[in-house]
Amino acid sequence: MNQTTATIDAPVVDAATKSAKTMEKIAYENNKLHKRLCRQVGQAIGDFNMIEEGDKVMVCLSGGKDSYALLDILMTLRERAPINFEIVAVNLDQKQPNFPADILPAYLSKLGIPFHIENQDTYSIVKRVIEEGKTTCSLCSRLRRGILYRVADELGATKIALGHHRDDILETFFLNMFFGAKIKGMPAKLQSDDGKHMVIRPLAYVKEEDTERYAAVKNFPIIPCDLCGSQENLQRKQIKGLMREWEKKFPGRVESIFSALSTVVPSHLMDRDLFKFSELKIDGQAKAEGDIAFDDEPCAPPPVFNAINITPLN
Ligand code: SF4
Repeated sequence: MNQTTATIDAPVVDAATKSAKTMEKIAYENNKLHKRLCRQVGQAIGDFNMIEEGDKVMVCLSGGKDSYALLDILMTLRERAPINFEIVAVNLDQKQPNFPADILPAYLSKLGIPFHIENQDTYSIVKRVIEEGKTTCSLCSRLRRGILYRVADELGATKIALGHHRDDILETFFLNMFFGAKIKGMPAKLQSDDGKHMVIRPLAYVKEEDTERYAAVKNFPIIPCDLCGSQENLQRKQIKGLMREWEKKFPGRVESIFSALSTVVPSHLMDRDLFKFSELKIDGQAKAEGDIAFDDEPCAPPPVFNAINITPLN
């Protein structure tokens, strides 16, 4: 068969069919993404018992992709949940220059969900107190936290939901390890530092790239997060870059590190408060998962050689 015949015999797919197929594929992928987000958020809520019957969940909405995704998925899950809980969305307008104050009220009114906009000029306080050129984030966050706790009380919220996702948790884990000498991440559920509130992170199992894609699919009216003029934390930026590079070079590595956060073996770390090494006694019982489990790993150190005979010692 010559080239001309092959071209003539080839099935003709017109542009309309092609674009219908493309649209179908996009719709399929978007639906898959929505299902995955619902599944992962539902799983995190169940695993950590984040939401209970009768809860009033205050969803903190910054106007960024993650908090929009959180609110959207929680609303979907509430319709399907076997328990009753309320949602109230809260945005703190910190009076940053050019903050588009009308976007969130318009969006939330359209959703028909109860919401509250708290107006507090923390921007001026931070600018007044912090020296020019110094990082403002820590005071800003402290002020924001205090205000949100007060608002939660005023609204009668029993849970405060934040939009941190899997990658935020991992970045914090590495930041604490590299710069704070601590094995400490960002908990999926915790008692607030004032001891009076329960903070939850229902996106704990969700990848950042999924919230990014979801925000694009849903066309959320994103409010830029750099209105205060503060630079992104350089160390966090480095960690983010490192994780992206790992994910590209070694697919699955980041997932594996994240899983490791749920599988901690205190007896194989060095925290003497976490594991009572001083009270460790021989009990004569073989441990199937003891140290020998790693002896045959390819990354195990080479056998020790006797310096004279150059023969392995064991
Ligand atoms: S980036 Fe700006 S708004 Fe965000 S915590 Fe830092 S100072 Fe506050």
